[in-house]
Amino acid sequence: MNGDDAMTTIPEDARTTTPDRGGSTPGPRPAGARLSRHCAALPPSVIAEALRGAARDRAISLAAGSPAATALPVDEVRSLIDRVLTRPGALQYTDTGGLPALREWFAADVSRRTGRAVHPRRIVVTHGSQQGLDLVCRALLDPGDTVLVDRPSYSGALQLLTLHQARVRDVPIASDPELTALDRALARESSVRPVRMVYVVPSYANPTGDSLSAGQRAGLARLAERYDCVVVEDDPYRQLGFRTSSADAVTDRGSDRGSERVITLGSLSKVLSPAVRIGYLVAPEPLRTPLSRLKEAADLGNSALTQQLAHALLTTPGLLDHQVARLRGLYRERRDTLVAALREHLGDEIAFAVPDGGFFVWARLTRGLDTTELLPTALGEGVAFVPGAAFYAREPERATLRLSYATADPGELAEGCARLARAVRTAGAK
Ligand code: PMP
Repeated sequence: MNGDDAMTTIPEDARTTTPDRGGSTPGPRPAGARLSRHCAALPPSVIAEALRGAARDRAISLAAGSPAATALPVDEVRSLIDRVLTRPGALQYTDTGGLPALREWFAADVSRRTGRAVHPRRIVVTHGSQQGLDLVCRALLDPGDTVLVDRPSYSGALQLLTLHQARVRDVPIASDPELTALDRALARESSVRPVRMVYVVPSYANPTGDSLSAGQRAGLARLAERYDCVVVEDDPYRQLGFRTSSADAVTDRGSDRGSERVITLGSLSKVLSPAVRIGYLVAPEPLRTPLSRLKEAADLGNSALTQQLAHALLTTPGLLDHQVARLRGLYRERRDTLVAALREHLGDEIAFAVPDGGFFVWARLTRGLDTTELLPTALGEGVAFVPGAAFYAREPERATLRLSYATADPGELAEGCARLARAVRTAGAK
């Protein structure tokens, strides 16, 4: 089955959602298996393709959003794991909603940050923020339901929304201080059919590095009330701000706002380790039971072992604060290296805003080269990036690209930019 065949079998509503992200088409139908419509409609991941290309060509990866190898708490895990193993239940099933002690820790942390008491029963421990979003989509979306996202937006969320056959519309959110475009889109879309969800990455977003102001966060909650939908705040980069020394980089006091319409997703992937696969969602009271049931149906709950480990890491005095402080320094230095190297090697061929935190520089090639077409040339030069088309629900801006400074070390970042500049010149000369 080619991509066009797949398109003819999916319903109108779902078809409108199939994103145009880099011209990828669904893969071939496996022998002996008839794929469901939503699975057949799922395009291959552009990021996975860029990462495969990078590995195959042994390229420097400015594509991966993985934490730096030196950022991972190897020694801390080693010193805690034996202790964790001897705890009762470490190798058993545990509560579906999460290890009680870990839920309590997350609830206390959210309460402290938001200034509002959050009961541990509202926490569901998940396999990272990605599963948190999947559970929320399962709870709230029927095929064809409308979801509004920032433009551009995290590609993993776009992929998941496609899987759930959502009707995805993207509008500028973080770059719009008054949320005027979102307000208009909500009014326009709600007159066609109800909008169920607005999805945002509120701090140091993937891919733009942008953060929402306190006013924008409060504005989102107001719009959710007015248009009877929920706001999903997916916040894995929250602590990784470079211009602050406080424990919480972005103040989210007032973020939860007591609203039953804001669902917050958190993750340990970027501050401790993506391999522990621990995240959490803060469920509004009415969604608490449905989300716990969905978690049970999905996987019966997270591993007790990794939850015990996460709890031990989080509660070891000073460990998290020290880790966060170290990561801010590490990533700030890498950001500076990447920014300087981009300026040196690409000059006015590239435009970008310098991010205040997180993992990514979001850039645009000023001569308008299509970065999806540029990628093979860049891989030939030995450098990988993610073409910007991966981050648009519709009508991608094809000269954009995401450059990660998280994974490559400073020497590789500088050399990667020199290679990228060669690729841009080669492609520009064609
Ligand atoms: N949301 C965003 C915005 C991300 O950048 C990522 C990681 N790339 C995720 C969710 C998934 O993270 P996790 O490992 O917590 O599932």
